[in-house]
Amino acid sequence: MIFMLPDLPYAKDSLSPYISAKTFDFHHGKHHQLYIDNTNKLVTGSDLDGKNLPTIITTTAGDPARIGIFNNAAQTWNHSFYWQCMKPGGGGAPGGNIAERITQTFGSYENFAQAFKDAGMTQFGSGWAWLVEKNDTLEIMKTPNADTPMAHGATALLTADVWEHAYYIDYQNRRADYLQVFLDKLVDWDFVNKQLVKK
Ligand code: MN
Repeated sequence: MIFMLPDLPYAKDSLSPYISAKTFDFHHGKHHQLYIDNTNKLVTGSDLDGKNLPTIITTTAGDPARIGIFNNAAQTWNHSFYWQCMKPGGGGAPGGNIAERITQTFGSYENFAQAFKDAGMTQFGSGWAWLVEKNDTLEIMKTPNADTPMAHGATALLTADVWEHAYYIDYQNRRADYLQVFLDKLVDWDFVNKQLVKK
């Protein structure tokens, strides 16, 4: 199996000015592509050749000898998931099943939004903020570097990339502004609802 860079689910200029086409040129066109190329190189000819990404990720998670494969495969998966978490005209409070689940778990959308932003802000260095489902319960999670919920028995529902490459062109050092815009203007809650149904 050769992994390929997935097309963005929207035009690369369609999230502007919140995320610019230039950010997508680097983040999707260069960073994501490199993770995919590295995964293909590292997996080809190994016992993981032909396995799907979740299998590669969960097989190599926590194995120091295979950290290179884990990092590149998890980053390949994380980015493919992240693109789908956004859409033009997205953001704001959700509807559907996820709206009820968020209110049940966090008390309100506002409480959820604050907890999600806090996770993104307190992830020291590079990583990801997540809304996940684990043991039928919603949770906020943060992961360093390439780490990903499936390596911890959790199902990803929503993520924001908080590596600097995700926001530096458009927001420079202002990670908080990027996270606020992500929640207010970008989140595709229809996609999040589909992740709940899928599991
Ligand atoms: Mn990234």
